Amino acid sequence: MAIGKLILTPTASSNPPTPGQLLDTLISLAFIEAAPLPARPSIYLAGERFLQLITFLGCSPYVRLTPETDDDEQFTHMRLAGPLPDNIFRTGRNTLTPRCPKCREKLTDWHADLTQWRQNSEHTIDCPACNTQTSPLALNWRSQAGAGQLFIEVWGIFPGEAVPTNELLSPLTALGCDWDYFYIQEEA
Ligand SMILES: [Zn+2]
Repeated sequence: MAIGKLILTPTASSNPPTPGQLLDTLISLAFIEAAPLPARPSIYLAGERFLQLITFLGCSPYVRLTPETDDDEQFTHMRLAGPLPDNIFRTGRNTLTPRCPKCREKLTDWHADLTQWRQNSEHTIDCPACNTQTSPLALNWRSQAGAGQLFIEVWGIFPGEAVPTNELLSPLTALGCDWDYFYIQEEA
């Protein structure tokens, strides 16, 4: 079963904070609990202000914040990933075909081009209509894919279902970087 994730990441041009700085900030905001789950140290449960720091857009969504079994991954919780030495590009089964920024043609070979870009970051996605060459980092993925080196992952969020508030983003920006967010659906 695919798991939906809201992913927050410092933008490619900015210097990400250290994981320690990031954890301290998320804990002091009560976005996450002060310690991870003892038996599953990659998982942070939602802190007591989580629902004030994330806005759910549907009417009365059902948000489940505790696991039902020892290996439950479908409930809403947080994980940190990175920092990584290079940008990684994250896509999911929700990722839409991007369009050429010049002529708007669909870049239908994006999947193969992205595989090559992962081997060589100079590789571009080339437009079949006008031959414009664009780095995947420069394309508009309409928040259904994205790149970064450090990620706050909010698991159990359907694409577009919830957005971070300024009350969450402002203290993150105060760590010295701009933030972006996107959604992916990945197989468990
Ligand atoms: Zn084009």
